[in-house]
Amino acid sequence: MDVIVAGLGIAGVFALRSLSKSLDVVGIDKREKLGHPVKCGEIIPTKKEMKRLLPELGDYSLFDISKRFESNKTDVISFFFPNGKSYDINFEFHVVNRDKMIQKIAKDSGHKIEREVILDYKNGRLYTNKGIREAKILIASDGANSRIAKSLGLWNYEISSAKQFVMRNVECDYRTVYMFIGKEISPGAYGWIIPKGNGFANVGVGFRSKFSNESVHRVLERFVKEFPYSFQFLKRAEVVSKVGAIVPIDKPLERAVHGNVIFAGDSASMIISHTGGGIPISMVAGNLAGEVVNKFFFENGKLEEYDLLLKKFLKKPLLTAFFFRRLWDLFADKEEKILKIMKLTNARDLEKILHCEIPWKIKLLYPFLKLII
Ligand SMILES: Cc1cc2nc3c(=O)[nH]c(=O)nc-3n(C[C@H](O)[C@H](O)[C@H](O)COP(=O)(O)OP(=O)(O)OC[C@H]3O[C@@H](n4cnc5c(N)ncnc54)[C@H](O)[C@@H]3O)c2cc1C
Repeated sequence: MDVIVAGLGIAGVFALRSLSKSLDVVGIDKREKLGHPVKCGEIIPTKKEMKRLLPELGDYSLFDISKRFESNKTDVISFFFPNGKSYDINFEFHVVNRDKMIQKIAKDSGHKIEREVILDYKNGRLYTNKGIREAKILIASDGANSRIAKSLGLWNYEISSAKQFVMRNVECDYRTVYMFIGKEISPGAYGWIIPKGNGFANVGVGFRSKFSNESVHRVLERFVKEFPYSFQFLKRAEVVSKVGAIVPIDKPLERAVHGNVIFAGDSASMIISHTGGGIPISMVAGNLAGEVVNKFFFENGKLEEYDLLLKKFLKKPLLTAFFFRRLWDLFADKEEKILKIMKLTNARDLEKILHCEIPWKIKLLYPFLKLII
């Protein structure tokens, strides 16, 4: 084979999509139905927001998300603090049917797809439940729990757990994504209600065990049934389905090219780590991986160009996100600290933080933060 794309989530199918049809490519994934079950809130910032989030990217056409994948579109984030105070921030998202999107992009790529479980990667060989595969290039897009990153000794990411229900009869504004912070509500992370349209919503919490003695199940139960500011939207809601998963919340791998292996997406912790937003980053990374591999085969290009492009387009926003995530860890262990920092923060600051921009206030106060808390 010329190329194996190992793992067909977001990064994998965007790599398949950009890989030349003249190459001998196989995409492999363990799932019977690609992208299913959906373990995701399914929000993708619109093209307008992506221009601000990744200002160096230049070509934003990836974010012309087809209407056929969209279940809803939102234009506001309502951000709740533990005492119920909330700020509304203008921020647009597509809410997508993520599994349908993955399946369609994979099919339209025209490349071969096989159902296989990756077990190990050793000496240039990919071991799966069906045997051994070899290729000139391996795109490792096998997600947050990447077998390939583990086999190469690269997986050392800090992660957050997450648990999510799809609920129906959710009574919230369908143009608003709700985010809730607080130690009780989502230790070290945040809770969300994401309206999918027709009264359906993705309702979930992030959870970091170092900030809590409870279980993620208990925390989600409280979010859904007890916490007044989320419960106000969920009084009549019923659970349709449940999923649990992990999200990397670390900085990305320093280098994403290792010999003939190219990492894309969660497998290399390419994520906006303070929000857990990985879809747009995985789209960009998968697409770039495919383009660099095409150049490798047809224009004598070097795989290392991929690392240069990632540095140019993603490095600054992802490291800024990581800075915010680390900063958040200073406050997340106590509700009082969260409320204290809330007093210093306004909607404009939050809007900047969500766009991976550092408000002047944080720049100014950063050296003194430890004294304030
Ligand atoms: C609960 C939750 C909610 C989230 N909500 C959002 C959101 O709303 N917006 C957003 O931007 N980000 C969100 N994220 C993050 C986002 O889902 C990921 O960052 C993104 O999916 C990463 O894409 P990926 O292609 O790298 O990995 P994935 O999409 O996870 O794809 C990895 C693929 O590899 C396959 N695979 C894994 N291991 C093996 C194996 N051993 N053998 C074969 N195949 C394998 C999997 O089946 C999967 O198809 C959320 C994450 C979680 C957990």
